Amino acid sequence: MPELPEVETVARELRPHLVGRTIQSVWLDWPRALEPMLPEDFQNRIAGQKVELVGRRAKYVLVKLNADWLLIHLKMSGRLYIVANEAATDSDRWVHFNFQLDNAHQLRFSDSRKFGRVILTNDLKAVVGHLGPEPLDESFTVDILKERLSHRKTSLKPLLLNQEFIAGIGNIYADEALHRAHLHPLRRSDSLTENDISSLHEAIRWVLNKGIERSGASIGWYRQPNGEKGTMQDEFLAYGRAGHPCQTCGQGTIERIVVGQRSTHFCPQCQR
Ligand SMILES: [Zn+2]
Repeated sequence: MPELPEVETVARELRPHLVGRTIQSVWLDWPRALEPMLPEDFQNRIAGQKVELVGRRAKYVLVKLNADWLLIHLKMSGRLYIVANEAATDSDRWVHFNFQLDNAHQLRFSDSRKFGRVILTNDLKAVVGHLGPEPLDESFTVDILKERLSHRKTSLKPLLLNQEFIAGIGNIYADEALHRAHLHPLRRSDSLTENDISSLHEAIRWVLNKGIERSGASIGWYRQPNGEKGTMQDEFLAYGRAGHPCQTCGQGTIERIVVGQRSTHFCPQCQR
């Protein structure tokens, strides 16, 4: 599933194509992605709205329109891309939303697994207000992380996946951050030393920034809007490397365990 770096990459790539454009109309054939909003309400309300900003909050692509916010969650297999009307074909049979722009281009939302979500709202807080801090914001300091950890008594891996604890991190970047911080995924959150917390803070920011720099990780469905793969998978030290020697310590072998129904990769030698 796309995580913060993948969604950030998508938002950055779409931004120059969308800002200033007006959405003329929307075709769709998967109303369930909109629930509880009805398709005709969605279509009527979005038509004529102009795109002011394109950004990201947690794992949502966030489009600020002149009267509403459009939020798109890619979930498992969602893809967003722009195509010129004259080049548009129906060869992508997984397109479920087609936003017609005023410059003879279309924004397409393609989603083979159909888990994606499309939300139109004027109350952004109602949708994302409960989510935790953005780990790449300047306001997310070591002290903030420390303060948030002190209120929890759970193991680190599920905590990092909890979007109300911290926004945007999923299975891949959680495993990579814990590995680089030399922390065991089952380590209790209230057992960390000051040094552990600093290392975790630094590791989280490092993996997410590196993920953005490398345009995301393409190990599953994820592609950039231009169709190219990201290359963050080449940086992985833990995720998907079960059975391989640990490149960090040179002594351990990466293991895979299941934590909270999620596969979890770590080195038992250097992650205690
Ligand atoms: Zn190791």
